[in-house]
Amino acid sequence: MIKVLFAAFEAAPFVKTGGLGDVAGSLPGAVSSSAFDVRVILPKLSAIPERYVKKMEFVTSFSVPLGWRNQYCGLFRLKHKGIMYYFLDNEYYFKRDNVYGEFDDGERVAFFSKAVLEFILHADEFIPDIIHCNDWHTALVPVMLREQYKEIPEFAGIKTVFTIHNLKYQGKYSEFVIGDICGLENTAAAAQLLSDEHTANYLQGAVIYSDRITTVSPSYAEEIRMPYYGEGLDWLFNRRKDVLSGILNGIDYRVWDPAKDKKIPLNYDASSLAKKHKNKLLLQEELGLEFNKDIPLFVIISRLTEQKGLDLVNYLLPEFQQRSMQFAVLGVGDKKYEDAFLYYADIDSQKFSASIKFDGELARRMYAGADVLLMPSRFEPCGLAQMIAMRYGTLPLVRETGGLKDTVHKNNGFSFLNFNAHDMLYAVDCALDIWFNRKRRWRAMQKQAMTEDYSWKASAREYRKLYREII
Ligand code: ADP
Repeated sequence: MIKVLFAAFEAAPFVKTGGLGDVAGSLPGAVSSSAFDVRVILPKLSAIPERYVKKMEFVTSFSVPLGWRNQYCGLFRLKHKGIMYYFLDNEYYFKRDNVYGEFDDGERVAFFSKAVLEFILHADEFIPDIIHCNDWHTALVPVMLREQYKEIPEFAGIKTVFTIHNLKYQGKYSEFVIGDICGLENTAAAAQLLSDEHTANYLQGAVIYSDRITTVSPSYAEEIRMPYYGEGLDWLFNRRKDVLSGILNGIDYRVWDPAKDKKIPLNYDASSLAKKHKNKLLLQEELGLEFNKDIPLFVIISRLTEQKGLDLVNYLLPEFQQRSMQFAVLGVGDKKYEDAFLYYADIDSQKFSASIKFDGELARRMYAGADVLLMPSRFEPCGLAQMIAMRYGTLPLVRETGGLKDTVHKNNGFSFLNFNAHDMLYAVDCALDIWFNRKRRWRAMQKQAMTEDYSWKASAREYRKLYREII
C-alpha cells in the first residue's frame, strides 16, 4: 500500500476558489484504490461551510515551531466520500474573511506547511510515503522536510511531489521571512530560496527541493522552460527538466454529461445528435440570435482576461460580422473586452450576443447548444472548457498551447499555432468550410470529440504511475 498525503490550501467541496480546488476535490478520490491510501490535508479555513465543520471530529493538538514562535495547531478529521480529510486549525491564521489576499499570507502558508510536517510527527495518524504538494501555499513543505526533518527516522524515506496549477503566484516576500518565519536562516535553503538579493520565493524553493515536479499538462511542462511562459523561472525548470513532467487534469464525467445534465433542455449523446440541434434553437431564442440551425454558433465561456487570447477575438469581430456565423460570449473580466462584445451585440443582435456575468446554468446550455467553442489562449496550463465542450459535441477551436495542444487535434477540433489574428481567422474559415460543405466530416468530428477520455480516471492512472516511480 502506497500512502500519499495530499496537501493543498483548498479542496472542493470544502473550499474552492479556482482550479486547484477542483483538482484537490477530485484527484485524491480518483487515485485511491486498494494499492493507494490517499489522504488530504487542508487548513481549517472559516470559509468551510458549517455543515462540514459540524461533522468534523477533533483528534489532537500540538504546537508548531515557526521561526521564533510556537503556535497552537488543532487537528480535526472528516471522512467524506471514502476519503480521509485532515484539517489543521489555528484561528489566528485561518479564521479570516478571505482565503487568500490577507496581509500575512506569507506567514499563514508557512504555518500551514510546517504544521503538515508536525502533523506527521505528532498526530500518530498517518506516516506517508509521499507528500503531494500543490501550488505556492505548500511550497515550503519539501524545503522544510529536507532541511528540518530529514534526521528524524519517520521522515527519512518520505518523497515529495510538487504540482504547479498556477505559475503566476509564487509567494515572493522580503528575505527576512527566511529566518523570521521559516526558521531556515542557517541552512542551505536560505540561499536557494532567494530569487534576488532581497526576495525569497517559496515556489522556487519547492522546484529546487521536490523529488518530482508536475504541471497540469505535458505541453505546459515543456513551455515553462521558455522565458515567454516561465514567469521568471524558466532557468530553474530547465535545470530540473529531468524531474519535470505534465499530467493532464480531468473533468468529472458525471458532472459534465449531456445525456444526464438536468440543466439543459434536451439530453443527448453521440448517437442522438439531432437533439443537440434543438438545444441550439432554444439557445438562439434565449440569446436573441437569429433562429436558424444552419448558421454555426461560435461561443466563448471564459474569464475575460488577456490570458484567454481575447485580443485576437476582439480584432476579428468585424470579420465575424462579415461571415455566415453567430458569436455568443458568456464571461466577466476586463472592461475592454466586455465593452467590445457588448458593442457588437448592440449593433448586430441577430449575430452577436454578450452575457456579461458568471452563470453556471447558462454555461451548460451554451455547451449543449453551441457548435464551436473558441479558446485562443495566450497560455493555458490545462484548460477545462475545451474538454467540457468536446463532451457536449461542441468542437473546440484553440491555439496550440499547453493543455489545449494536448487535448485538441484535427479529428476533434480546430487549431492554429501562432498568436496571430490571421492564423486564427484561417482556422475559423476551415471550420466554416467543414460546417457548410462537409457535413459528414463535422458529424464524425463531433463523435470523436464526444468519445475522447478526458476523465479523472485517465489522470489518476498517470499519478499512480508517478507515485510508483519515486518510492
Ligand atoms: P480558467 O481556470 O483559466 O478560468 P478553465 O477552462 O480551466 O479556465 O476553467 C474555466 C471554467 O469556468 C470552465 O468550467 C468554464 O465553463 C467556467 N466558466 C468561466 N467563465 C464562466 C462564466 N462566466 N459563467 C459560467 N461558467 C464559467
